[in-house]
Amino acid sequence: MSMIRLENVSKYYKSEETVSVGMKKINLEFNLGEFVAVTGESGSGKSTLLNVISGLDGYEDGELYLFGEETSHYTIADWEKYRGTNIGFVFQNYNIIDSYTVLQNVLLALEVQGYDPKTRKQRALELIEKVGLTSHKNHKASKLSGGQKQRTVIARALAKDCPIIVADEPTGNLDSASGAQVLKVLHELSKDKLIIVVTHEYSQVAEYATRRIKMHDGEVVEDKKIKKPLEVTQKDAPKIKGMPFHTLLRFTLRNLFATPKRLVFLVFMQMLVMVAFTLFYTFRLSSIREMEVAQSQRFPNVPETRVLIEKRDGEDFGADDLAYFNNIRYVSHVYEQGLNFYNSTRLYIFKSENIYSHGTSIYMDGRQVEGTDAAITLSPINVEGTLPVAKNEIVIGHNWVDYQIGETVKIGTSNYYNYEGSQIDDEDFIGDFMITGIDKSRSHILYFSQAFLESEDEVPRYIENVSVKNSLKDQANYGFGFQYGSNYHNIERSTIDLPGKMIQFDDGSGDPIEFVTTTDITLVGYVYNESTWTAEEVLITVEDVNIHYNNVTYYATMSDEIADIIVDYLLDEYEHFYLSENRLVLSLSVSGLSAGNRVIKSVDSDIYRVIYPANIPNPSQGIFVFMQALFTGVFLLIFGILLYSIVHAVTKNMMKTRKKDFAIYRSIGTNKTTLARLVVLEQVFIALISSIMMFIVLYILGAYIPFIYRIVQYMENIDYVILIGIFLFFGAWLGLRFNKKIFKQSVIESIVSSREE
Ligand code: ADP
Ligand code: MG
Repeated sequence: MSMIRLENVSKYYKSEETVSVGMKKINLEFNLGEFVAVTGESGSGKSTLLNVISGLDGYEDGELYLFGEETSHYTIADWEKYRGTNIGFVFQNYNIIDSYTVLQNVLLALEVQGYDPKTRKQRALELIEKVGLTSHKNHKASKLSGGQKQRTVIARALAKDCPIIVADEPTGNLDSASGAQVLKVLHELSKDKLIIVVTHEYSQVAEYATRRIKMHDGEVVEDKKIKKPLEVTQKDAPKIKGMPFHTLLRFTLRNLFATPKRLVFLVFMQMLVMVAFTLFYTFRLSSIREMEVAQSQRFPNVPETRVLIEKRDGEDFGADDLAYFNNIRYVSHVYEQGLNFYNSTRLYIFKSENIYSHGTSIYMDGRQVEGTDAAITLSPINVEGTLPVAKNEIVIGHNWVDYQIGETVKIGTSNYYNYEGSQIDDEDFIGDFMITGIDKSRSHILYFSQAFLESEDEVPRYIENVSVKNSLKDQANYGFGFQYGSNYHNIERSTIDLPGKMIQFDDGSGDPIEFVTTTDITLVGYVYNESTWTAEEVLITVEDVNIHYNNVTYYATMSDEIADIIVDYLLDEYEHFYLSENRLVLSLSVSGLSAGNRVIKSVDSDIYRVIYPANIPNPSQGIFVFMQALFTGVFLLIFGILLYSIVHAVTKNMMKTRKKDFAIYRSIGTNKTTLARLVVLEQVFIALISSIMMFIVLYILGAYIPFIYRIVQYMENIDYVILIGIFLFFGAWLGLRFNKKIFKQSVIESIVSSREE
């Protein structure tokens, strides 16, 4: 039985208009031990014969028998297996992977066959020795001479111990000295194989050839035995074990790092795209997450940089608790008694001695302080000027445009119902402060220095204690109604001094009003409970209430004395809803909403209750949030596809240059599936490297660029996971798209086209 037998095999090349003959009605047999020289002028069908024999190309007519087996029913996989096990290729243009070293090129053939690492290294080095390249084993293929390249290819072709070597004009591009060397090596190393060499110059192989075949116009015109071939018994073909995943992984990494410039470009390209995507992602999701947020009515002045904590059992905070809160990543500072400082204190800024006030608000030139905070909550990049250091230094919000850094302002509290132009009381005056900086992120806010907040002075304590009471009074005034008879009335604290325990109704008409005195009235107190105002009907017995009443009532007012009774009552009854100086509350500084929300998530428990005034969820938004999230998901997908299509367009030419490499892989027996996986894995790796680097770069840039700082601040762990997941997914998608392109051509087509390039 012959190893290879062709019976009347013909091959035509059909293009749209013409059909050309590659070879016609070829009848040949080949066996082990032969050294066959195929000669003939250009275009006579030598390459066609070689390609058909080696299973790189199909044929139209006749029958090709391999090891006695008919091949008309062979599938692509069968051909891949045949090539992988039996054929070693050597081509004219040294099908070598330029970015690999000599050793890597030789190892490649062994790796794709699944040889174990020790054997393959040893075998590769042996072969390199035999082709005389030991001193060049770690040289990149691109740096070798033609002869050296060809010898490397021979070593690689022999590496996998296959019985057949086909060489298509292996010396075509070499000078005669290196050509002779290459053929000598080829001959010596494969005496026990079948070698088929196509050559222009028969004289070069005359010394070794056992047989000469001459072709002309696609036909064999001469088939001459020259000397008796070596007797060789057929061995079992080596088994291909296929490429295990870890080998695939190693290949991927090696391919990536073998071409560092390409890697850098691809990573850079993807990082750009990823930054765009991440920006869009955080932008959309922040608006969704914050949609649920509504300002608390209970603590209208507490900014989003404050989170309040109380213990559910009402106990005081111990050192352990403080340490715990100090250690939370998103908490920049922990204030004991901070709530009092916060919620109750209304601090107003004024320049002149004259202040205007209504309720607890004081206006100066139409402006008021919306909140106060510790400077420690500020990010220096948001501040023009410097952070306050000394006790009497402050940073102010950016909307007070007529104040400048270096200017001194007076700061005081307002506790009473002062009217137009009334002089500020000495006890409401806190001091003169110098502006050291302007906060660009918030508008009407004051930031105090750490020195001020920690000072032993009476001032901060005064702020804490005095103002709490007043704040409560404000809330009580606001939240009270009065049931008299069948009528219900809201009552507010009187704006003029009402004597004694008096509640007065007024329609504003100025008509005479009737006075009633009663000893027992029902007040309806509104208590703010968790998220809604609920009417709690409470009976407060007040003796000798003077009710100033006329029939048509519009509003009711009460004297300070009545108001105080109500407040005291509330303090007793509803202390847990309100905050007094006795309550044990911690206040945490956080950088903003997302950090605050994270604190809620990690702290709220059986032990601690978190109150985040700036972030009271609004349940009715649920459906909107869901719709928005859905919308955003679709949008992100489209945006991602768009961005990655750009990446694809830019990088696809780079992938084209690798076609040659892949053709080589395939010619040494790597199957299509493995290569397809390799391409995908490579892209996934690039995506992984790029995304990690992008996050690192964002993190570093965040220290200098405010809007990037906000992105980084916004990102939660889950966002990193989601984004990396998305990037890997798109990486794989890119890989699949490249595959389509790379494997559209058959092996021979891609080898031929890469040979031409
Ligand atoms: P050789 O290797 O002896 O130079 P080939 O086997 O390459 O010859 O070519 C034999 C004939 O087949 C030539 O006429 C050539 O033009 C034609 N041929 C070879 N490859 C193709 C192809 N891919 N498409 C069309 N015609 C081809
Ligand atoms: Mg040819």
